Amino acid sequence: MTTDDFESTIAVTPMLRKIVHIDMDAFYASVEQRDDPSLRGRPVVVAWRGKRSVVCAASYEARRFGVRSAMAAVHAERLCPDAIFIPPDFSRYKAVSQAVREIFRRYTDLIEPLSLDEAYLDVTQNKAGLSTATQVAKAIRQQVRDELHLTASAGVAPNKFLAKIASDWRKPDGLFVIQPQDIESFLLPLSVGKIPGVGKVMENRLQQIGIETVGELRNLGQPNLQQLFGRYGMRLYELARGIDHSRVVPDRPTKSISAEDTFEVDIPLQAMEEVIRRLAEKVWKASRREERIARTVVLKLKTAEFNILTRSHTPAIPPSSVEDLTSIALSLRDRIDLSPDQRFRLAGVGLSNFQGTEPPGSPLFD
Ligand SMILES: [Mg+2]
Repeated sequence: MTTDDFESTIAVTPMLRKIVHIDMDAFYASVEQRDDPSLRGRPVVVAWRGKRSVVCAASYEARRFGVRSAMAAVHAERLCPDAIFIPPDFSRYKAVSQAVREIFRRYTDLIEPLSLDEAYLDVTQNKAGLSTATQVAKAIRQQVRDELHLTASAGVAPNKFLAKIASDWRKPDGLFVIQPQDIESFLLPLSVGKIPGVGKVMENRLQQIGIETVGELRNLGQPNLQQLFGRYGMRLYELARGIDHSRVVPDRPTKSISAEDTFEVDIPLQAMEEVIRRLAEKVWKASRREERIARTVVLKLKTAEFNILTRSHTPAIPPSSVEDLTSIALSLRDRIDLSPDQRFRLAGVGLSNFQGTEPPGSPLFD
């Protein structure tokens, strides 16, 4: 090998990374079972009661009846009439999530949370000086079990995409490692539906052209994939080859979370309740990925003449449910003091003023 060859090899070979994906098992339901021994071994469904409510989490005992997260709570009740329904307590889950993150931080600061119960960790360099990523994953699982009395599943791989698939492979309470040399044999027989981002619709489209496995997907050239799926086709081309260069991006503190909607026809204030409810639901869902709690609710409106109005409220107790958020947002609407004939072209609901869940210096889990 000449010096030139050597240099070009270095330039094109990316450093082999070590990524761990940690996913807490049935997180909210497990926290409830941990904190109330009478719930252990029983089907537990974390959800608000009510026609429009959805399941936030289901214990493995409830999953045996077909209950799943994001399913309508009324449906869950039909599937498992004996389930114990518990309203979610997000401030408690957030505190536990923070304690889990403290364990992660013993090994790396490169932590990218996906939600309260899931995160990617880049442990290419780890603070504990363990020699493999598998050892880091084992240590984290052990500490979560010993210190928090919960179980976590872990996936270890050279990139995020594979680590995420791996953490699901031995769930619950499992560990699965994909070594660089095993990527091919692991990936080829995998169903395309296992690829993050490939939903039911895309899976069906692929099935229609005879593609069910990642191996078969590879036979589609890049132009074909791009034609079928646009920009995501490019990504699919790489994922099918086990390539994912996306980095673990540490969490940046969120300043605010909001959702807005421009109407097809301008509407008066009285006609806005449904829209506000829908926006509040969307914002609430997004805010649940946040470790901290938002104190302030904001309502934004734009008149037909493009004037922007905002009203905000910071309650003594931060909104702790979608119902809370909705009722505050609706009450803010009542503070708009314009003629009843005034029409609006846009409404937005937001949460801001995010703060920690606990006062500094008083850790809940020591
Ligand atoms: Mg989970």
